[in-house]
Amino acid sequence: MTTHQELIDRDRKVTFHASTHLRDFAHGDAPGRVITGGKGIHIIDKDGREFIDGFAGLYCVNIGYGRTEVAEAIYQQALEMSYYHTYVGHSNEPQIALSEKILELAGPGMSKVYYGMSGSDANETQLKIVRYYNNVLGRPQKKKVIARMRGYHGSGIASGSLTGLKAFHDHFDLPIDTIRHTEAPYYYHRAAEQAGMTEREFSAYCAGKLEEMILAEGPETVAAFIGEPVLGTGGIVPPPEGYWEAIQAVLARYDVLLIADEVVCGFGRIGADFGSHHYGIKPDLITVAKGLTSAYQPLSGVIVGDRVWRVLEQGTGEYGPIGHGWTYSGHALGCAAGLANLAIIEREGLTANAAETGAYLQRQMQAAFGDHPIVGQVRGVGMLAALEFSADPARRRHFDPSLKVGPRMAAAALEENLIARAMPQGDILGFAPPLTTTRGEVDEIVARTKRAVDKVTDALVREGTL
Ligand code: PMP
Repeated sequence: MTTHQELIDRDRKVTFHASTHLRDFAHGDAPGRVITGGKGIHIIDKDGREFIDGFAGLYCVNIGYGRTEVAEAIYQQALEMSYYHTYVGHSNEPQIALSEKILELAGPGMSKVYYGMSGSDANETQLKIVRYYNNVLGRPQKKKVIARMRGYHGSGIASGSLTGLKAFHDHFDLPIDTIRHTEAPYYYHRAAEQAGMTEREFSAYCAGKLEEMILAEGPETVAAFIGEPVLGTGGIVPPPEGYWEAIQAVLARYDVLLIADEVVCGFGRIGADFGSHHYGIKPDLITVAKGLTSAYQPLSGVIVGDRVWRVLEQGTGEYGPIGHGWTYSGHALGCAAGLANLAIIEREGLTANAAETGAYLQRQMQAAFGDHPIVGQVRGVGMLAALEFSADPARRRHFDPSLKVGPRMAAAALEENLIARAMPQGDILGFAPPLTTTRGEVDEIVARTKRAVDKVTDALVREGTL
C-alpha cells in the first residue's frame, strides 16, 4: 500500500500549493498532508489521524463531511446529464431550481443569478457587471471600485486587487489602478489609536473616511463599494455597531453601488440566510460561493438586484449579447450539489443551529479566553469566531510579528488534532466549524484550543518574550 510519506513526496514533485513556500515545499522543507476522508466535523489523513476541522475546510463545508445525499445527487445528475453549456439561452433543470431557491433565500429586490466556479471569478463577474452598468448608463468615467483594507475577495488580478491584504498584492504588482481601499471596520485595532471612540463613533469615522475618498476621487468616477458583511480572512471581525447603516448612507449620497461579498456569510454561517439580513444591508449585487454547495462541487454565483438588472437589460439594444461567460457557468453537477446542500441546511435547521450553537460557541470562547493573559479580544458571530493575541491586552499591544504567535497557536492546535486557522495578517486564530457542530463538539473545540493556547503561552514565558 502507498504510504502517506510516498504520497507527499509524489505531490512535492508535481504540484505546488496556495499559501505555501514554493521552494521549501518542493524540497521537502515544509510539511505536507494528504486528506483521505471526512465525516461530520472530522477529517482524516492518510495515516488515519483524525482532526476536528474547526474551520470547515476554508469556511465552506457548512453541512459537514461525508454527506452521501449530496454525493448521490451529483451521481444521479451525472448519469442523467453531466454537462451542457449555458451560453445562448441553454439551461439545465438544477440551474433553474437552484436559482429559484437562491432568490427565495435572498429575499425581495433580487432579480437574477449568474454562476461561476469560485468566489474569485464571481467577483470578476461583479466588476464586469459594474462596468457594463455604467457604460449602459452613459457614464464611462464611473468605474472605480472601493474595497476595504483587510477585505478578502479572491486572488485573481482583479479580485485579488479588491482584496486588501498585503500578501496578496506584494510581488504581483497589485492592486490594478481602478481599485481603492478604505478604512477597515476594525474597531479593536483602531479604537485604541483613536482613543476613547465608541463603536458608533468609529462607524461614523469609517463612513467619513469613505466619503472623503469618494470626494477626493470624484463621485463621478466611483462606481461601487464592496465589502464582506463580516470581515473574514482579514481577521474575522464583526462590524462595529451602526457600521453598515453609516456606510450605506454615504453610498446612497453618491450613487455608488453596493456589492455584498457573502462568500463566507451566505447560507447560514452567521445564523441568517445571508449576512446582509443580519446587519440590515441592502446590496445591489451579492457574491456567493462556499456554503452554496458546502464545497461538494465548486460553484459560485452573483445575485443581481432589480436596480442593476433593469439597466443591464437595456444594454442589449446597443451591445448585443453580453460578452461574458465561463464554460462551466451553471454547471449541472454544481447546481445539483447546491440544491441537495440547501435542502439539508433547510431540513436540519442548520442556519438556526449556527445562531444558537454559534452563540454557545461565543460564550464558551469568552469564558475560556476572556481573561487570558495573552488574548486581547475574543470575537465572533454565529459560527465564526476568533482569538486575537496580544503581548499586553490592556494596551492592545501586538506581538513582534517575528515571533509568529498566530501560526504557533495553529500548530499547537494541530498537535491537539484540532484545525484552527492562523489568519494571514496579525496574530489571530480563526474558527468557522461546520454549521452542524453540536454543543458537545463546541466544548471539545474550546478544550483543545485552551490546551494549545496555554502551551504556547508557557513557551513564550520560557523564551522570555512575555
Ligand atoms: N470572497 C470572500 C469573502 C472569500 O472569503 C473568498 C475565499 N476565502 C473569496 C471571495 C474567494 O473565493 P475563492 O477562493 O473560491 O476564489
